[in-house]
Amino acid sequence: MERIVLQRADITRALTRISHEILESNRGIADLVILGIPTRGVVLAQRIAAIVAGIEGSQAQDPSSRADALVGSLDVTMYRDDLRRNPTRAPAPTQVPRSIDGATVVLVDDVLFSGRTVRAALDALSDLGRPRAVRLAALVDRGHRELPIRADFVGKNMPSSLSERINVRLDEIDGDEYVSIEES
Ligand code: 5GP
Ligand code: MG
Repeated sequence: MERIVLQRADITRALTRISHEILESNRGIADLVILGIPTRGVVLAQRIAAIVAGIEGSQAQDPSSRADALVGSLDVTMYRDDLRRNPTRAPAPTQVPRSIDGATVVLVDDVLFSGRTVRAALDALSDLGRPRAVRLAALVDRGHRELPIRADFVGKNMPSSLSERINVRLDEIDGDEYVSIEES
């Protein structure tokens, strides 16, 4: 049985709140770099960047060019500790909008589970430069961490059993938009 836990409007609200929280903790947009973890983390990062740029950028430049200057994607495939166990899908390209040296990097993923993807992301980041700080945003935190990692910005905490799966559907990729939980 599949149960919807976030509808389209809930996702929009969660991303808007997270964007405000990021701006508040970073005291604005300066030196902010928002990097999504493929696949759906990149879409979420782009949306957060657009909201952040819209909030901060009402004066000077147009918000969409400001959003592009903030956002990128971070491929973690080659940094995974389970690379040998799970033969991987093709790596997605890493694209950073600027040097991450001295920046506050916000990593964005759709679901936070064991924490191993984020650990790999931290490794990937350290090959790119030395940020001033790294934060983590996740649309859903489903628990079951295996590493000492937590998210700074969470859309929804969703305690789950190990036999359940969270489905994240986003318009840009899936042509529909919701989060559901189901027995796998
Ligand atoms: P972790 O590395 O923390 O175990 O898992 C997080 C990564 O795996 C994220 O990139 C996320 O997309 C994916 N993931 C783990 N569990 C789930 C889940 O229940 N649903 C979805 N949609 N993705 C998951
Ligand atoms: Mg993922």
